[in-house]
Amino acid sequence: MIMPDSLVVTGTGLPDVCVRHGSPALAKQDFKVFTRMPWWPFLFVPVMAVVSLFFATHWLAAAGAVPYLAVRVRRDSLDVRAWAFCRACVKTHVVRLLITMAIFLAGVAATVWIFAAVTDEEQHPELWLLGVLVLVVAGFAFYPLSTWRFIARAHVVGGGSAVKVRDPHPGYAAAAEQRLAASGYRPDGSHLPVAVA
Ligand SMILES: [Zn+2]
Repeated sequence: MIMPDSLVVTGTGLPDVCVRHGSPALAKQDFKVFTRMPWWPFLFVPVMAVVSLFFATHWLAAAGAVPYLAVRVRRDSLDVRAWAFCRACVKTHVVRLLITMAIFLAGVAATVWIFAAVTDEEQHPELWLLGVLVLVVAGFAFYPLSTWRFIARAHVVGGGSAVKVRDPHPGYAAAAEQRLAASGYRPDGSHLPVAVA
């Protein structure tokens, strides 16, 4: 389902029910939505972390983040206003944020504890790898699942001209189609000047 920018940025054009459950809104949130990230930049992070172990040079691990960052800064974005989330959606958001924090804190605590337990003067690149892994799991893998844009199943299409909602609940789809029809839009995005596949 394609929601054009004129509906998502005003704060009045979106349905009053949530995308996932079609349930009435407990909260309405403003947030940023982006173009979907391709999968391949994520490959470089673990691959370069392992490569850096073999060569025992930490900067190689940092280089794994470069393709990810390069793709990330080139994303299109839209600021959506008053997007509806039901009680279950809000709970999902909070629980996932807490899990992300728990992973991060447990990882930092484990890394500090291992460093404190190491008594000799040797280099321990595998300890740096552990730290990097914790950041990757918490920051790149789990935190994104807790964001409002992920729970809304929304990403930007058409060069920033619309938001695509993936697999909406029938209740949301019906409400959105009403809004779209009232504004002279079609739900497949065929009204938009650019392709939104
Ligand atoms: Zn919901």
